[in-house]
This record gives sequence, C-alpha cells and structure tokens, in this order.
Amino acid sequence: MSINTNKDYIKEVTIREVETKTILRKFKKIESWFLTSYGMNLYRGCLHNCVYCDGRAEKYQVDGKFGEDVVVKTNALNVLERELDPSRKRTPFRKGYIGVGGGVGDSYQSVEEKYLLTRKTLELLYKKKFPVHILTKSTLVKRDIDIIKKINKKSRAIVSFSFSSVDDAISKIFEPGVPVPSERLEVISLLKKEGIAVGMYLMPVIPFITDTREKIEETVKNASEVGIDFIIFGGMTLKKGRQKEYFMDVLKQQYPDLLIKYQNIYSNNKWGSPSGEYYNSLNQLFHTIAKVYHMPVRIPLFLFQDILSENDLVVVLLEHIDYLSKLQGKRSPYGYAAYSISQIKKPLSDLKFHLREIKGVGRVTEKIILEILVTGTSTYYETLMR
Ligand code: SF4
Repeated sequence: MSINTNKDYIKEVTIREVETKTILRKFKKIESWFLTSYGMNLYRGCLHNCVYCDGRAEKYQVDGKFGEDVVVKTNALNVLERELDPSRKRTPFRKGYIGVGGGVGDSYQSVEEKYLLTRKTLELLYKKKFPVHILTKSTLVKRDIDIIKKINKKSRAIVSFSFSSVDDAISKIFEPGVPVPSERLEVISLLKKEGIAVGMYLMPVIPFITDTREKIEETVKNASEVGIDFIIFGGMTLKKGRQKEYFMDVLKQQYPDLLIKYQNIYSNNKWGSPSGEYYNSLNQLFHTIAKVYHMPVRIPLFLFQDILSENDLVVVLLEHIDYLSKLQGKRSPYGYAAYSISQIKKPLSDLKFHLREIKGVGRVTEKIILEILVTGTSTYYETLMR
C-alpha cells in the first residue's frame, strides 16, 4: 500500500492490525510541558518518517522498518472505553488534559484516514468530558475541527503542532511524509478562528540548519502572526544506534560539510543530547527572540488554572518557575520541590502548616506555594512569564 499525509511523498508501507490490552498510559507525574497526566498511542510507528525522529531509537522497541511499517491498534476504542470507566478504578482519574498523539506515532498520520481511531477517541473523550491536548504534525486534524470545538466548549482543547522551522524546503528533507510548515500554519489559522488554543512545539531545532537567529526568528514571527498561544522550544537528541545512524546518513547526503560540527556537539551520551554549552546558548537565543514577540515559552496559566488539582497546579507552576529562573542563570530549588510535591497524595491545603517538611521546600518556595493555594497563581511566576 502507498499512502501518506504529504501527497508528494509516496512510499510503500506495511500496515499490521493488532489487538491491544491497554491504551491509556498514566504518567508518574503531570507533564508540565503538555499538562497531561495520561497519554496514548493509537498507532505504533509513524509513516511521517521524520529523519530525526527518536521513535527510531531502540529503547522504544518499535518493530519493523521505522517510517514504512505501522501497527494499528484496532480494538483501541473498546479498550479505552473500559479504561475510562470510573467504576473500574480504585483511585479517581487525575484532573488535567488527556494527551492524544506524540510518542512513537502521529495520531493523524495517513492511516487515520482509513481507521478513524483518533476521531473516535475524541468523540469518546467528549462524551466523558475530558479536556484534550492533541499533538500532531499533520493537517489531517482539520477534518476533526467539529469535534475539537465541541470538546473545547465542554471541557477545553488545545491543539499543538511540532515544527523544526517554517522553512518548507528544509522540512521536505527532514520531514518527508508531513505536510510542509506553510500548510500547517494555514490549519493553525483555521483553528484559531474557531476559538481553539494552539501551541507550537519548536522541536527539534536541527543544529546548524534550523538553529540560526534568522530561522528561529522567522518561525516565531510566523507563529505570532497566526495567533499561536505559546511556543515550547527543544533541541535535537541523537541516540546512539538506529536513530543516529539514520540521521547521519541523510546529513551526509544533504549537508556533508556539517558532519564534523555534529561530531563536536554529539558525544554519544546516554540520552543523545547535544553538548550543554551548545544547547544553553540556543535556548537563550530562542528566549530572547520569544521575548521580542511577547510569545509565552510555557503553556499560559489561563489554559490550565481551572483544570488541574491544587497539587498539580503547584507542581506545574513550580516547574515553570524552575525553567524560567534557570534561563536567567539563577540556581533553582523549584524543580526538586515540584518533584517532591508530585509524589504527595494528600491535598496541599491540608498540609499548609507542614510545607517546610516537604523535601526541597524552603522559606521562599513555601511562600510561593501558599500564594498559589490562595490565589491560583504566583506573582513571581507572572513576573518571570512577562
Ligand atoms: S511525526 Fe513525530 S512521531 Fe512521526 S516520524 Fe515525525 S517526529 Fe516521529
């Protein structure tokens, strides 16, 4: 079979239908980048075949030829319906968005046109009144605007797109199966006109190709013009093995002059991250540009303040403060405190007089937490977000 959401990219693909035992993945703590405590992969493997995709790395155990083989979990809806049934759960569902997409397969890759698993999942989440955060690179999401609007009205929806830049020519090399960025931006305009919040995950920025001041500025400017609500930035990891080998082969063909530069910043660490020095300067550059365009670099509070439990609200705000303080070169105790709080089951308002007993919570953090518990926000956080 030959299909893809980018109609110019034709590749023979193999589709395997399987029955799954589970769909919903519960995270150890709320993900403050996405505001999700649960996520799911309706498909395994991704026909978008992005050259840098870390789903190719061995640790994710995606069988077959990545980019050409995809597994469809045909009974996903029945399993999800069962998993979402509150009478079957010993502990209630955590509040927050349910993540649809990301992981090791785009929920709007071309097979979705035939199987409709994502659409049916959204219909179910609407019925069950869950807020939804969709992450995709595909314009196929346009098909589901009707149901996304209904979710947004009832319980709220965010649709986020990932980009490595807004350069169509570069995207054709590194994201061969995906609609080009200009088409993604058109769909974003459409979603915004329908009153739906839209985020951009500017990740991965590709070293020495999409990481220049001009390219990042062009992306942030375009995002701002179509009314994007926030941009979250991230660098590119290259894990040793299948992911790195595949990427380096393409780099060798398309940008042979860059090979040495890549060897200098990717030294095969366990996570495949580039050197800290390179990443920090890039993060600073992004942040400077985002400031010029008044672009929030974390999901803004109005999209989650009334959705999360008080503990998760504190965790997310402390993690956002942690990120923003570190960007300013400050030492930050907030990440550690956030992690400790994420492991506490009791509501923080019951522990108001014992906050300092929580690991990582000192006098200043205690003050911030108390303010969040009373007002739902923190003046320090708001200053940093400005
Ligand atoms: S769309 Fe996402 S999951 Fe699919 S290949 Fe690209 S990076 Fe990987």
